[in-house]
Amino acid sequence: MGRAFVYVILGGGVAAGYAALEFSNRGVSHGELCIISEESVAPYERPALSKGYLLPEGIELVLGTRVISADVRRRTLLTAAGETISYKILIVATGARALKLEEFGVNGSDAENVCYLRDLTDANRLVDVMRSSSGGNAVVIGGGYIGMECAASLVINKINVTMVFPEAQCMPRLFTPKIASFYEDYYKSKGVEFVKGTALSSFDMDADGKVVAVNLRDGKRLLVDMVVVGIGIRPNTSLFEGQLTLEKGGIKVNEKMQSSNSSVYAVGDVAAFPVKLFGETRRLEHVDSARKCARHAVAAIMEPEKSGEFDYVPFFYSRIFALSWQFYGDNVGEVVHFGDFSGNTFGAYWVNKGHLVGSFLEGGTKEEYAAIAMVTSLKPAIEDLAELESRGLSYAMAV
Ligand code: FAD
Ligand code: NAD
Repeated sequence: MGRAFVYVILGGGVAAGYAALEFSNRGVSHGELCIISEESVAPYERPALSKGYLLPEGIELVLGTRVISADVRRRTLLTAAGETISYKILIVATGARALKLEEFGVNGSDAENVCYLRDLTDANRLVDVMRSSSGGNAVVIGGGYIGMECAASLVINKINVTMVFPEAQCMPRLFTPKIASFYEDYYKSKGVEFVKGTALSSFDMDADGKVVAVNLRDGKRLLVDMVVVGIGIRPNTSLFEGQLTLEKGGIKVNEKMQSSNSSVYAVGDVAAFPVKLFGETRRLEHVDSARKCARHAVAAIMEPEKSGEFDYVPFFYSRIFALSWQFYGDNVGEVVHFGDFSGNTFGAYWVNKGHLVGSFLEGGTKEEYAAIAMVTSLKPAIEDLAELESRGLSYAMAV
């Protein structure tokens, strides 16, 4: 049993949705393109986990279907239902999975009041658990994006939150200690408590298998009504291990998003692609890159002679409580902070090997965000860090 398509998109997330939109804009015939997704719904915007699906017309949708093996030499995929689907061109958009506590030696992920957040099913479950914990206590494990954003949502929903993470500060992958300290103070003013420099050691369960307390390695015991876990992700590469070249935990692709097998492209969280601005291969875990590299891959597939280099400036953002920040580029080298850290608008530049390579801004206007994006893409030479510091945001605005 089997079906054959010209183009197959494997995965039904953000990158898959944007690849499908680009195919549709450029014109694919009915039955030429198929999306296979383990999820039971069409691709959607993951950040909002909204119900606005990204699906254009005329595409074969194979939903609720997990691909269990791939043969890139034969150009076939085998689904869990036993169907073989063949392709001429495959776009791998399998994203990533949330790391589980068990991978760090702690059991209890399956308890009914322990929540992860990666897809719509997780989001619906989190809302249910949150509703049944109203007025109660939550422990949020992890101080990254999920931890920070979920902690804010829980507080807004009248749940007391304690955040627990092993590092000395929140958002250690991106924030400087000074930036982290601003957000932690803001969270504290909203009632969030921080337990830093330690990790979870075990859960105490009641007779129904519900977590009632969280035990930490430093000996603390926190009583809980619910737990949210955001301890990072692992790209879904396993179908292609041994068949495609991997790098930085993802599928290595060239500037056309083409893998080491010329019929297979990779986009989104699973792809490690050349970032020209840095002169190296990176794997990014953010929507903007998922959207843009998906569109670029489809352009490169359909009009290879016209598709130029992928000149991408990494862009991350978050909105929490009344706050909102944007970051462009790379957070390496020396840091120059600017603005009023006790007020509403402040930020930082990163200067590496004499060039500005990264910019962060909290509380900016549309024009100010556009200015830091532009200045970062130009990678200007910086001779005097003190001068950059004193000019602050006006430096970007003048470029
Ligand atoms: P995904 O969106 O994860 O999609 C992967 C798809 O592949 C899924 O449909 C999955 O079911 C499917 N799949 C995987 N393996 C198989 C298989 N074997 N067979 C069939 N199907 C398979 N980024 C930002 O920049 N800003 C934000 O505000 C932001 N908010 C976020 C909020 C949440 C709650 C989450 C989870 C992420 C957020 N991100 C945000 C990150 C962003 O959503 C991801 O970078 C983006 O979703 C990556 O897109 P993707 O298509 O590569 O992967
Ligand atoms: P993350 O990588 O942002 O943060 C992981 C955090 O887990 C670390 O900061 C650390 O504090 C913590 N941690 C690691 N090991 C731990 C352990 N053993 N015990 C306790 N804590 C531990 O990952 P995430 O927050 O889980 O986010 C998942 C993915 O979703 C990421 O790819 C992220 O980029 C994406 N996301 C992005 C946004 C955004 O861009 N605004 C929002 C939500 C999610």
